[in-house]
Amino acid sequence: MITFIKKLRELSGGKPVGFKLCIGRKSEFFAICKAMLEMNTYPDFITVDGGEGGTGASPQEFSNAVGMPLREGVAFVYDVLSGFGIKKHIKIIASGKVASGFDLVKNIALGADMCNAARAMMFALGCIQALECNSNTCPTGVATQDPSLMKGLVVDDKKVRVFNFHRLTVASAVELLGAAGLHHPYQLTRAYINRRIAQNLTQSYIETFPYIPEGSLLQTPYPLRFELGMALSTAASFAPTDYKVSSIDYAHANSYSDNLNQGH
Ligand code: SF4
Repeated sequence: MITFIKKLRELSGGKPVGFKLCIGRKSEFFAICKAMLEMNTYPDFITVDGGEGGTGASPQEFSNAVGMPLREGVAFVYDVLSGFGIKKHIKIIASGKVASGFDLVKNIALGADMCNAARAMMFALGCIQALECNSNTCPTGVATQDPSLMKGLVVDDKKVRVFNFHRLTVASAVELLGAAGLHHPYQLTRAYINRRIAQNLTQSYIETFPYIPEGSLLQTPYPLRFELGMALSTAASFAPTDYKVSSIDYAHANSYSDNLNQGH
């Protein structure tokens, strides 16, 4: 995969090259990062999608059941890239249920450099979630090649709605930044966002997703919660190694989740 990125960049005369993924088995992402380091080749961007939702065309069982949710995914990707000391080479794009100004703020606070929105833009365009994207019978003309249905999408009317949605969503994110006393999205950190984690308990993102020191995955001892991912991954393959999980790993994992539950 990293060889292919290198080749694409050469063949395109240096155009930005990146890939999109939804985090599944964590060791796969460690494997990608190890391969990047080994080959000294980095994509310009990684787009992180969330496991929530799915297009109208996705298999029902895949919606909400396959892949890590977006917030966890963005924080994880940021931390691993930072742990390997390679975040400086790569922009992170968050994609998945991004629809409001606060969604933009949340993802940027977690580590995204920018956000993609697909569904929200489709709603602005007139999508009614009829779930027929794959059948060429989209009743609103959004996802069809059928000329009689395509007529339903009046570009002159709909382009204004999409433009307004984009402009006002960005404006509301900027308003939220101002309310937090910030001048630039890059000033956002995990310390700025709180979320409710139980009926009588809120926690800041920095408590839920603690940062790891930059470069801390370049030498042992690794941060506790990344030890297993490091042990299970190699630069040569996406497949996990045959490393056997020991009781020590379980003890580490439990102490990490205990800390989270106690709000540490
Ligand atoms: S309205 Fe069109 S784009 Fe939206 S879910 Fe239905 S088929 Fe897909």
